[in-house]
Order: sequence, then structure tokens, then C-alpha cells
Amino acid sequence: MKYLTFRDAGVFHGHMGPFLALGYAAGRIAVLALKPESEFDLLAEIYIPLKRPYSCVIDGVQCSTKCTLGKLNLKVHAVNEIISFIFRNVKRGNSIRLKVRDYVIRRLLGFSKNTEGLSWLLEQTVYSVFEGDIPFKNIRLGEVLGFEE
Ligand SMILES: [Zn+2]
Repeated sequence: MKYLTFRDAGVFHGHMGPFLALGYAAGRIAVLALKPESEFDLLAEIYIPLKRPYSCVIDGVQCSTKCTLGKLNLKVHAVNEIISFIFRNVKRGNSIRLKVRDYVIRRLLGFSKNTEGLSWLLEQTVYSVFEGDIPFKNIRLGEVLGFEE
């Protein structure tokens, strides 16, 4: 299957911020791990505060997974302060959970420019950004996104 790149996600979303990147990366990890064969195989559930910039992760997930509001295979749950994801391959029956580490959110909220937050995030490893039972722990996020600047 063909997927939108992170740059495409930036065009769709309007800017390339770190929260878009978090969502894109989480979805990309899920696709690599769960290997969907069609756009209906994955179900994404996102747990976030329903306000920007947290909500920017939703567009990242949509672009990297093909789980979309339009196909109803994306569900968003409102919670306080945390950002976490459950991705299920409904055909194969396997799933993964990822939670953005608290310090990552605090750090990203502290940057005054999107570009600074994004640059920092791209240098972090998957394991330093996400907790959970996740593959690709030692890969940098920039590599996960296929995006080097
Ligand atoms: Zn955004």
C-alpha cells in the first residue's frame, strides 16, 4: 500500500509541528509492526486532551495509517494531559499500545517554535519518546518518519 509521507502530512495539516510528528510516528510504527494489507485492517484509538496542539496528533495518525474519520476506523477519546494510542489489526487480531512519555510532552510544550520542537523530537529514539510494548526502540524518530533535515 502507498502511504502519505510526513511531508504530505504537513501539507494536509498545514504545518509540520512536533505533535503532528508524534501522531505520524506512532501510526508509522503501528503500520510497520501490524502490517495491514488494506485500508480497513487497522483500527486506531487515540487518547488525548481535545485541544491543540495535542489534537494535531490526530492528523498525523490519519496520514500514516489510513485510519480516518471518514472510514470510521479512527476513534478519539478525550482524556487529561496524556497522549496514548492503541492500534489494532482487526483482521489478524494483534495490537500495540504506545504512550508518549510525560517529559516529552512537557519538553515539546516548552519550545516557542514548531521547528525547534520538531528538530528536537526527530533526534530522540523511539524508546525515549514512547513507552509501551513497542518495536524499533533504538531507531531515531527522524528515521521512523523518513524525514531528515
Ligand atoms: Zn498542528
